[in-house]
Amino acid sequence: MNKVEQQLELADFYWMMQMLQTVDVGLVILERDYSIKLWNGFMENHSGINNKQLINKEIFSVFPNLPRAWVERKVESVFKLGSPAYSTWEQRPHLFPFKSYRPLTGHSDRMYQNITFMPLLGPNRSVSQVCLLIYDVTESATSKMQLEKANLQLEKLSRTDRLTGLNNRGYWEECLQQEYRRNKRASEAGKVEASLIMFDIDHFKPVNDTYGHLAGDQVIKAVANCLKDTARDTDFAGRYGGEEFVLLLPNTGVEGAFEVAERLRTKIQSLVVKHEGLELSVTVSLGICDFTPNLDSFNLWLERADQALYNSKHQGRNQSSVWSQELE
Ligand code: GH3
Ligand code: MG
Ligand code: MG
Repeated sequence: MNKVEQQLELADFYWMMQMLQTVDVGLVILERDYSIKLWNGFMENHSGINNKQLINKEIFSVFPNLPRAWVERKVESVFKLGSPAYSTWEQRPHLFPFKSYRPLTGHSDRMYQNITFMPLLGPNRSVSQVCLLIYDVTESATSKMQLEKANLQLEKLSRTDRLTGLNNRGYWEECLQQEYRRNKRASEAGKVEASLIMFDIDHFKPVNDTYGHLAGDQVIKAVANCLKDTARDTDFAGRYGGEEFVLLLPNTGVEGAFEVAERLRTKIQSLVVKHEGLELSVTVSLGICDFTPNLDSFNLWLERADQALYNSKHQGRNQSSVWSQELE
């Protein structure tokens, strides 16, 4: 190589070094023994540690908190297979705990990183070093997480009744259908238990007519809260219609369901709803139907609970009835 060629090579080396130093990606080159060969400007700026303090030092001695086993697994696979390895922020939010300059409320203030472990080939075509490329993906990661959060909230909203916060009819019916199918399958193998309670506020129209719709709404909310307090975590409570409510009780036979219904009835009976200086009280009529394997559909299950509810109304209201064949 003559002098001019040597100078040209040196010039190439300089502009390449400048590029490596200024590019907006973290570049770290590791030797076979994990000593650091390159620590570019991006890494200097975000770590606050100068290139000179690190060069030729083993990376784990400078960053003892790095997930050593994980890094070794990645790097060793690159040395062994000669092909790149990747890690996304979803798998591991970051490798180097750099501060993020775009902190968003509710999120980590760390930079989210995608990382590529790239093999660098030596003159003999075997992997001599591994280059880590660290991409700052904080912006796309946080917006993706915000979108997911918003979607979850939307999903929750779409299955919740506005006034009461109970499951709305559409979603509750999906739960009922699932529970029906589950019981139908399980009933082939043995005895299963599940019950349905449906109830309706007694003489509710006069409440609205006498005290106004807002007062009526307060009563509906109070009854819904009573239902929420009575339901267990594994039960499904819902607002089925205007002042009609439902409670699905998995793993509960008819006696257990009757007890729950009576507890609900007495609790609601003793409610005092305060509205604009008024004290309002209501009662409810309830219908109970337990799952039996001969139920042809979940609609029939609902229909029977409704027939039992109608019986309670017919018998004088403020009571619970269990469905039986005679009610059909
Ligand atoms: P019964 O004992 O036979 O059930 O008599 P009822 O007066 O309660 O009769 P019904 O169940 O048919 O009446 C339901 C009333 O509930 C009619 C409707 O105006 C009222 N309603 C339905 N949804 C709402 C609501 O969201 N808010 C208020 N305030 N009233 C509602
Ligand atoms: Mg009613
Ligand atoms: Mg009604």
